[in-house]
Amino acid sequence: MKISLIVPCYNEEESLKPFYDELNKVSADLADYEFEFLFIDDGSRDKTLSILKDFAKSDERVKYIAFSKNFGKEAAMYAGFCNSSGDYTAVMDADMQDPPSLLKDMLKILEEGEYDSVATRRNTRSGEPKIRSFFAKMFYRIMGKISKVDIISGARDFRLMKRDMVDAIVAMCENNRFSKGIFGWIGFKTYWMSYDNVERVAGETKWSFRKLFNYSLDGIVGFSDVPLKFATFNALLSYIISVCPLALAIVALVQGESIKYSYSLQWYITLFVIFALCGTVLLSIAVVGKYIAKIYDEVKGRPHYIVAQTNKTDIVKK
Ligand code: UDP
Ligand code: MG
Repeated sequence: MKISLIVPCYNEEESLKPFYDELNKVSADLADYEFEFLFIDDGSRDKTLSILKDFAKSDERVKYIAFSKNFGKEAAMYAGFCNSSGDYTAVMDADMQDPPSLLKDMLKILEEGEYDSVATRRNTRSGEPKIRSFFAKMFYRIMGKISKVDIISGARDFRLMKRDMVDAIVAMCENNRFSKGIFGWIGFKTYWMSYDNVERVAGETKWSFRKLFNYSLDGIVGFSDVPLKFATFNALLSYIISVCPLALAIVALVQGESIKYSYSLQWYITLFVIFALCGTVLLSIAVVGKYIAKIYDEVKGRPHYIVAQTNKTDIVKK
């Protein structure tokens, strides 16, 4: 059996050596398995690539793929999935925050046969700036409400998967990628393993607040169409509000006030027209939004279904 480890690296010159030492230790413990280390250099500007080339010189398990510029961790992971050939594949950060030592336990669970993947989540966010934890938690709470896909708070991208699951991920060829959503969307049986947060071995986080914020928007837009429904909600609200001045106007008319002389009646009618028109405009936007949501769904080009098991040898995948 072969295990592919995908390691996205962006300016990781300081962490690579300790990380590689750890990989050597873990792979020596798992001597029954063949290994492939797929390092994706995501446009690093430090010595990352030359260090990777050094590793590759003396170790044929090491493969590196260097990007022409920084495309982001999602692109790096996708390149890894597209090029991994293992029976089992794991994504792993280069900074040891995804402890390679967990691999042994993860493998054991997969070998028992019941699960297709073992995913990891952090129990705590200790060591992380408070403000970042706050926004992260809020993001997961909102996501839990507005998305049909299960996105688990504290989940890492670190997970070990069987081949079928990797093939399914490769088939998700959308450009705006959000892996935690993709892992949830494709399904399969996942075992969740918790561990205490580990701090980065060296260097510093590559995610600025702005990068994380944009990433969270990718997650929301990619896996929920609730924001598009805002227009529908606003249209309804507008119509409901418009009923109030309409009622007041009718009462005033019944009481015999004339439009020509009654300021209040003129106001009621004006307000009614404004809110009713707003409602109509918003409703039209909502209809357009609905179609855009459908178009968006189509252009993502996601597979229609993912087969987990079959006894058919010539199964059609679409
Ligand atoms: N990374 C990457 N491209 C980027 C940003 C990060 O390949 O644009 C890699 C980085 O080298 C590391 C992993 O993604 O291996 C996770 O990044 P980091 O540790 O900085 O994120 P954090 O753990 O702070 O969320
Ligand atoms: Mg990290």
